[in-house]
Amino acid sequence: MKTISLPCKCKLGWDETEISLIMCNIHYNAYLDKGLNTAADDFIKIVASPKGSHYSPKILESLR
Ligand SMILES: [Zn+2]
Repeated sequence: MKTISLPCKCKLGWDETEISLIMCNIHYNAYLDKGLNTAADDFIKIVASPKGSHYSPKILESLR
């Protein structure tokens, strides 16, 4: 599994079959707030796709 560390200290990992996210405190709290209304996969995409994204199109493509 490939992993990247996000600026907020989340760790995002993915391979062909799954995406995992080890959340920082900020996003963990955000997830607790929104988690009831947001599927985990969708939340991961939100975390991984900040405005002004510096992640490559290939990474974002792999998140779809
Ligand atoms: Zn985070």
